[in-house]
Amino acid sequence: MGVQDVKLDSDYITILWDDGHEGIYPSRYLRGYCCCAACVEEMTGRRIVGENDVDEYVMALDWIQIGRYALQFLWSDAHDSGIYPFEVLRNLCRCDDCYSQ
Ligand SMILES: [Zn+2]
Ligand SMILES: [Zn+2]
Repeated sequence: MGVQDVKLDSDYITILWDDGHEGIYPSRYLRGYCCCAACVEEMTGRRIVGENDVDEYVMALDWIQIGRYALQFLWSDAHDSGIYPFEVLRNLCRCDDCYSQ
């Protein structure tokens, strides 16, 4: 599994996967799933910062690919420590196909 391209809009992030799937992620929703140590307590796995804790208008400003397995985003609230493995991103997809069930 790999990523061909990522588009950053104010409301949505679009990820084009190399199997042709176009993944749609509302910006605030994806920011709320950040799994860095500041957002999720390492010892307990308890979420400290979720979607409702971040700015309503948060958006991704930039992204980079980490190796062959993950994406990292720079968010407009200056948060950039979260790494999103491809597997996690596929499970979080909110496109009509993935989210209609
Ligand atoms: Zn985080
Ligand atoms: Zn999808």
